[in-house]
Amino acid sequence: MNSVKHTSAPLAPASLIKMGLHFAASVGAETLWPTQCVVCNKPGEILCEICRINLPYIDQSRACTKCGAPFGYVQCSECNSVSLAAANKTQLPFDTCRSVTVYTASAMKVIRTWKDEGERRLGEHLAQAMTHMIDPRMISKNSTEMPTISFIPATKQAYLRRGFDHAEQLAQLISKQTTLPYTSLFKRPSSKDQRKFGRSDRMKNMTGQFSLNTKAPLPPRVLLIDDVMTSGATLFAASDLLRLHGVKEIACLTFARVW
Ligand SMILES: [Zn+2]
Ligand SMILES: [Zn+2]
Repeated sequence: MNSVKHTSAPLAPASLIKMGLHFAASVGAETLWPTQCVVCNKPGEILCEICRINLPYIDQSRACTKCGAPFGYVQCSECNSVSLAAANKTQLPFDTCRSVTVYTASAMKVIRTWKDEGERRLGEHLAQAMTHMIDPRMISKNSTEMPTISFIPATKQAYLRRGFDHAEQLAQLISKQTTLPYTSLFKRPSSKDQRKFGRSDRMKNMTGQFSLNTKAPLPPRVLLIDDVMTSGATLFAASDLLRLHGVKEIACLTFARVW
């Protein structure tokens, strides 16, 4: 039998020049702006091991099994009938929600440096922590219930200001890490920045703000990604629309949660 020898094609001179320039640019950038931890400023890594370990992780065994609120396992203050009535709901529009950390000062520093100061390398750390939160049964190769990953898009204004869509980056990285399918389901909304509003104003501001990207039937199961859950208004509005278009199961996953 003839053996086939696989050899990689030699790199064209243009590719070599490009690689050389990229390397030189990285070295130059590292000399001018050495990498340091965004939380403690220790040089070396963008998020050092100690700060990564000390992030305010939510104890999932004590969190609400529906909305993911910390300490809501026995009785949840966030998704009981009174709280839902304040959001004009009788039940949660999604099936489950989980968040990795509480939105305290250190988590906020990581997210703001990533989103607003353009430090996109942090996206890898956030996505990796979020991937660990996904039920392994969902991503098992034998699973017949694999969800499709999608994300809450940034508003048009935020996208132009930042130059990238942060939740899209997370969704794509998580899809890569889990091999779950990925699709962009929503058009970019043009609503006002939610950060300025209180809880009830956030609900009003988001109602009807989402529209779909596609006219094709939606996947039956969706894993919806966002960076921070604040009042839940954004995830509620997006989930309402998915339900309206026949999505049967909606799980939400965020990196942080305001608490
Ligand atoms: Zn650190
Ligand atoms: Zn709850």
